[in-house]
Amino acid sequence: MAIEIKEIQKFERIGAHSHIKGLGLDENLRALDVADGLVGQKKAREAAGVIVRMIKSGKMAGKGILIAGPPGTGKTAIAVAISKELGKDIPFVQVSASEFYSAEMKKTEALIQAMRKAIGVRIKERRFVLEGEVVGLDYNMVPNPYNPTQKIPESATLTLATKDEKRTFTVSGRLALQFLYQGIEVGDVIMIDKETGRIVKLGKSERAKKYDIGEETVEVPSGRIEKEKEFTYVVTLHDLDEANARRRGGLFSLFEPVSKEIDSEVREAVDEQVKRWVEEGRAELIPGVLFIDETHLMDIELFAFMNRAMESEMAPIIILASNRGFAKIRGTDIVSPHGIPLDLLDRLLIITTEPYSREEIKKIIEIRADESKIKLSEEALEMLTDLGEKNSLRYAVQLLAPAYELAKLRNSDKIEVEDVKKASELFVDVSQSSSYLKKWEEKMLAQ
Ligand code: ATP
Repeated sequence: MAIEIKEIQKFERIGAHSHIKGLGLDENLRALDVADGLVGQKKAREAAGVIVRMIKSGKMAGKGILIAGPPGTGKTAIAVAISKELGKDIPFVQVSASEFYSAEMKKTEALIQAMRKAIGVRIKERRFVLEGEVVGLDYNMVPNPYNPTQKIPESATLTLATKDEKRTFTVSGRLALQFLYQGIEVGDVIMIDKETGRIVKLGKSERAKKYDIGEETVEVPSGRIEKEKEFTYVVTLHDLDEANARRRGGLFSLFEPVSKEIDSEVREAVDEQVKRWVEEGRAELIPGVLFIDETHLMDIELFAFMNRAMESEMAPIIILASNRGFAKIRGTDIVSPHGIPLDLLDRLLIITTEPYSREEIKKIIEIRADESKIKLSEEALEMLTDLGEKNSLRYAVQLLAPAYELAKLRNSDKIEVEDVKKASELFVDVSQSSSYLKKWEEKMLAQ
């Protein structure tokens, strides 16, 4: 039996897109009007569908994707949908190119870390475990040598039973302490990882449930108490880099200057280890998606670095987003499409997104509200749609949460026009807030 003990799906900042479950295409890769939480943008979705097929058949190696379109036309939404189509465990990492520039680390280091966060490693491990119902648990308590007023377990006697077997074990003090901390008692069905000593409480046995209400019951297992189980879990290459660096003592050590940069040696060691696991059939690489917004903020050095890194067999699928037509490539005087160097553009398949119609904006707001379990009246929805049209879709969607709070203050669970109106007075759109400050700046300069 395979158990998923850890699901490190590093979905960063995509809460706003949780309604998106896929690209919403039929079997001929035709976009349905509204499906999988996506609305409109059909051409882009169909193109994305073809790309997903190419990725799945290994035909995107060394290539990337550029989604070009005006702000707020669902570029992020489509990138999220691509990652959902690729599978359940696929890591999705979203960064804005501006985040590569920080005082903490070199920009190329920030880029490589983002890339490695977008590559998952599914690890399979066979472990010996003890599993059964606790039918006896006696602690041998002694005074705590560090605090004699306290008592701690020196050892414990544990009797476990399955439907077919019953065995008694002597448990070390350290493990006995874990039993105490977790409040394990007779009647609990537990599993102990023999290697790590980790105890997992699976629930109460049917028999013990009679005396204890409110806890989940599980069936007492049958067969042997000691058995081998297969565990699978997903970590990212970046997680492994960090763990390895920490083991070597360099990273985040208390007495060393804080540096989050990771040595290339550490990364090479991780890569070799992972390759070995893959060869031995103990692990599987799952390339995810790295979505880079505001691509025009990347400079020539970052582009060159990324271009090289994309050739590596351990590269994620890179999706760039741009809302610029022509721009200077940062760090040069060269003007190019989207501010991206031509040699990189050669590697990119380009998708465009278009502004939404009023009906589409309305539908998206409706779906978002539904996803957040927020009710709203038809008039309130119309008003939010107006705001989406006049200001931006993002603004309209963002107003849902504060408008809902205002509705609750009226003891209602449904957003009405008055709530939307109030929320839009309290919270402004980014274009309003920036022009407001601009006016102030002008005033101050005039003085
Ligand atoms: P961009 O990256 O182009 O700026 P975005 O995907 O970030 O666009 P927003 O304007 O932030 O889009 O979108 C606001 C909300 O609308 C988000 O919750 C997003 O998931 C959702 N959304 C955008 N496009 C669609 C779409 N075609 N179908 C469904 N939901 C969408």
